[in-house]
Amino acid sequence: MMKTIRIAIDGPAGAGKSTIAKLAAEKLNYTYVDTGAMYRAITYKSIENNLELSNEEAIVSLLASTKIELQPSDLGQQVLMDDQNVSDAIRSQQVTAHVSEVSAHARVREELVRRQMVLAQSGGVIMDGRDIGTHVIPDAELKIFMSATAEERARRRFVDNKERGISIEFEELKADIIRRDKFDSERKASPLVQAQDAIYLDTTNLTIQQVVDQIVELAKERELQQ
Ligand code: C5P
Repeated sequence: MMKTIRIAIDGPAGAGKSTIAKLAAEKLNYTYVDTGAMYRAITYKSIENNLELSNEEAIVSLLASTKIELQPSDLGQQVLMDDQNVSDAIRSQQVTAHVSEVSAHARVREELVRRQMVLAQSGGVIMDGRDIGTHVIPDAELKIFMSATAEERARRRFVDNKERGISIEFEELKADIIRRDKFDSERKASPLVQAQDAIYLDTTNLTIQQVVDQIVELAKERELQQ
């Protein structure tokens, strides 16, 4: 029987990682794991509990008693936190604005990375984030580093928001993307960098389908090599 592999997809905000990872997972019949959702969930809960987001100690102890589950469903992946569906709540502008601050805490990362390693153990998994190829699955059989210009990433977010009835100015989205890129790339604890053995994919001028096809093709090649 052909062996399944572990696929790590990293890259900056708005590069299309989750859309593409989801579709590729469907085609390959793999499990999709959105690690950003886990950082968003603990950020949401910290805000709800009125924690000071610079207080690493408090967030780490809150996280210790927090259950985060990612469940596939017909509506896409659902995020359950302490058995409550927070899939929409974690995408709010407020959570988006604060998630980089929370994810910069080394001990928050340590705990979430530990949980993500467990989720990646079984193989047949496609995981997206910022440090998957460098820290979570350093020995992944396929690593992709996906990016696009900040302009194009902001444009995609804009179109996406419009469809969901959210109106945020293009310039504001672009500024937020640039700010998050900077924060995620410059933090001390596992910053966003391309793993040495990752394949770089510039998606600026590619359609979603083209990127999905490329990844599926690469995955099939790697499956055969196992
Ligand atoms: O992927 P998404 O945009 O939902 O991620 C939200 C934030 O979570 C990122 O801006 C980053 O600060 C953090 N993150 C991270 N490491 C990951 C995934 C997300 O630091 N593996």
